[in-house]
Amino acid sequence: GRVVDPRGTTEEAQVEAALRPRRLADFPGQPRVREQLGLVLEAARRRGAPPDHVLLSGPPGLGKTTLAMIIAGELEQPIRITSGPAIQHAGDLAAVLSSLVEGEVLFLDEIHRMSRPAEEMLYLAMEDFRVDVIVGKGPGATAIPLELPPFTVVGATTRAGLLPAPLRDRFGFTGHLDFYATEDLVAILTRNAALLGIDADAHGIRQIASRSRGTPRIANRLLRRVRDWAQVHGSGHLDEGAARAALELFDVDELGLDRLDRAVLEALCTRFGGGPVGLSTLAVAVGEEPDTVETVAEPYLVREGYMIRTPRGRAASAAAWDHLGLTPPKDAVG
Ligand code: ADP
Repeated sequence: GRVVDPRGTTEEAQVEAALRPRRLADFPGQPRVREQLGLVLEAARRRGAPPDHVLLSGPPGLGKTTLAMIIAGELEQPIRITSGPAIQHAGDLAAVLSSLVEGEVLFLDEIHRMSRPAEEMLYLAMEDFRVDVIVGKGPGATAIPLELPPFTVVGATTRAGLLPAPLRDRFGFTGHLDFYATEDLVAILTRNAALLGIDADAHGIRQIASRSRGTPRIANRLLRRVRDWAQVHGSGHLDEGAARAALELFDVDELGLDRLDRAVLEALCTRFGGGPVGLSTLAVAVGEEPDTVETVAEPYLVREGYMIRTPRGRAASAAAWDHLGLTPPKDAVG
């Protein structure tokens, strides 16, 4: 478990649930998505009908689940939560769909990981509010159409491009979540420190916010680790000194990069001459799964301009060479 992994753990789920803002107005950051979504929801409320299906895309830990729950809250509707990997068979989805009540919000996390037959059933359900229940087997099998009450699907995916076009087209609105500005993370952390009863000052909060890789989930986790440090080694007061000491202990540098990020950049520069190099080769070089490198390290390295994605693989930028204190060869890509 890396402290800067944007994916949540099961142990974290409870504390995360307690910290989720419940209303759109209490959700800091993502001004564009907030305004777009606010409009979609308000219009639906005035029409007295469920809104279009909503797709939320963006890296893990940026608030997709939180927004899904806010959507249900704003619509004053119940929410059913499941995920692509949990739906192995079309029958699993049929069971969920046929038990929805009118207006209910169905949150499908990691919707790009649903099986193909389930996906096809979902198209039909989203478009016509109908599922075909297959009765019997083989040549004698018949499809019995089952009408569904109108409901709203909120899908979440780390990349909208991973969804097959027919499924993507069923969503009337797609919100793209981007990494948060430090100021927004300061707002989130200030609120959460108060909720958790942590005695924190503005400098301590800012230190955490600026090293949280633009990700609220990481910010919340670092807040808890710095609180631990302040309680064990300090006076309990979370200040800049406590934040610096704790983050050094957990290997998070001034830029929010940790050991894996630095290992990736170092491998790119010293072993592959700055690249380009394929993802799986790079992953082997740092002893990690390709998926971990791609979802945990890469998005932030790319966004901060340390890594470049090229058609032939990953390459180091001038900033990466600079950060490592190395001189790039003359023919380096970045
Ligand atoms: P995702 O579904 O995109 O992985 P979550 O919605 O589960 O992300 O958010 C992860 C954690 O970060 C939760 O504890 C949530 O409360 C917090 N969080 C995310 N976005 C915000 C936000 N804009 N304001 C406050 N907390 C947030």
